[in-house]
Amino acid sequence: MTHTRHIVVVGAGQSAAQFIEAARGAGHVGRLTLIGDELPLPYQRPPLSKEYLAGARSADWLSYREPHFYSRHDVATHLGRRVAAIDRARQQVQLDDGTAVEYDALCLATGTRVRRLPETVVAAGDVHYLRTIADADVLRAQLPSARRVVIVGGGFIGLEVAAVLSRLGHEVVVLEVAPRLLPRVAAPELSAFLYRQHAAHGVRIVCGASVVSIQRQRHPDKSDALLVKTANGDDWPADMVIAGIGILPNEELAAAAKLVCDDGIVVDETACTSDPNIVAAGDCTRHPNDIVGRALRLETVHNAVEQAKVAAQTLCGRVSRYAQTPWVWSDQFGFRLHVVGQIDGYDSHVIRGDPDHGKFAVCYFRQGRFIALHAVNRPAEFAAARRLLNARAELTPEQAADTDFNLAGAAQPARRLEFARPWPTRKRSAAILAERPS
Ligand code: NAP
Repeated sequence: MTHTRHIVVVGAGQSAAQFIEAARGAGHVGRLTLIGDELPLPYQRPPLSKEYLAGARSADWLSYREPHFYSRHDVATHLGRRVAAIDRARQQVQLDDGTAVEYDALCLATGTRVRRLPETVVAAGDVHYLRTIADADVLRAQLPSARRVVIVGGGFIGLEVAAVLSRLGHEVVVLEVAPRLLPRVAAPELSAFLYRQHAAHGVRIVCGASVVSIQRQRHPDKSDALLVKTANGDDWPADMVIAGIGILPNEELAAAAKLVCDDGIVVDETACTSDPNIVAAGDCTRHPNDIVGRALRLETVHNAVEQAKVAAQTLCGRVSRYAQTPWVWSDQFGFRLHVVGQIDGYDSHVIRGDPDHGKFAVCYFRQGRFIALHAVNRPAEFAAARRLLNARAELTPEQAADTDFNLAGAAQPARRLEFARPWPTRKRSAAILAERPS
């Protein structure tokens, strides 16, 4: 693949932009073409549910790279164009306007799309989703006339949007189907902390709420509003409904081209798909992760960026393997939550610090092995945990619970661990809680 002449990148998100930069950095001097179905050049999505929604940032600020980045790197662009098919035999992609673009190698960075509520629950125009800058612009335009906002889904989108809108003065209700917030990705103490933070800022969170219908109702004064009904018979009137109920990988294009897919485009640790001329990177991939010990599909900026670098190396004939501990962050009200590692299968966890003081971490263990940390306003501990997990270094639950124990020190080479205090003597902030996640 070192003689690759023309690399075509399908998808124009953060992963695509990173791939282009990394490919040029790795010495690719041939043609580069970027094809994306949105009109803007690649931009950052995380601020859409934070600063951008709040009106604190402009669209220009979202750009992942300046426009001249693409001209400087001699990148041909087809924006506002969807790839309709990949013809692997002819090595070309067909665009939705009939154009055929030939490739020597392909990078699929097709990302994800929102999961939608069924049409039996809500008419398409009566619910908003937030994935693209266009979605955010519609929300920003319509929010001034929406006093009551119901958010369906208490995941990252739902909670971040709720935090922004309550600060803007809207009455916000979050309807989450699970019995508590983020049950699959957070310990009960973190769920409770998030719940308390939102309640303190006036956000009403209702867990165990399954939405069965959303109907538009016209009032005698000719105004109209929405009525959200849940399975337990509750009615929630709303001027606006926003759903954040998860996302789905855009794998159909790859599947139609007979690339192996399994809830994501399947790639190896070099980001290579089942076709050696095609790599894939970002939210759309399912990839092996040695550190976590299983294949994953990750919906994170970190993954989009780091896997794209590896994909570029692969197409430039270099050997690079993607194996990093996944992490994400979330900003809500005044706190920052960092999540590092994967908690699935955890059988114990400890709290480090005091949730009531708004600065704490939750450390997760599986069979005594440290597997993840969630930090609230504890960036240094997040950074240390990331190093620990990447190095697969040891950390005991007792050390983790001891706020005097220096996590950063433990993240040094393993030899240091022998000298680390094995058992806490004081300030042990919590008992080790043995339980399985609900
Ligand atoms: P998400 O994080 O997967 O959360 C969706 C939540 O909605 C889940 O708790 C889900 O419960 C619940 N849900 C599903 N169907 C529902 C229904 N019919 N009624 C009520 N609740 C329902 O997805 P998201 O919040 O939409 O975010 C989309 C993606 O963007 C995710 O990958 C997220 O991580 C990412 N994102 C990340 C950040 C960040 O890292 N700061 C910020 C925004 C978005 P079940 O799990 O039981 O289905």
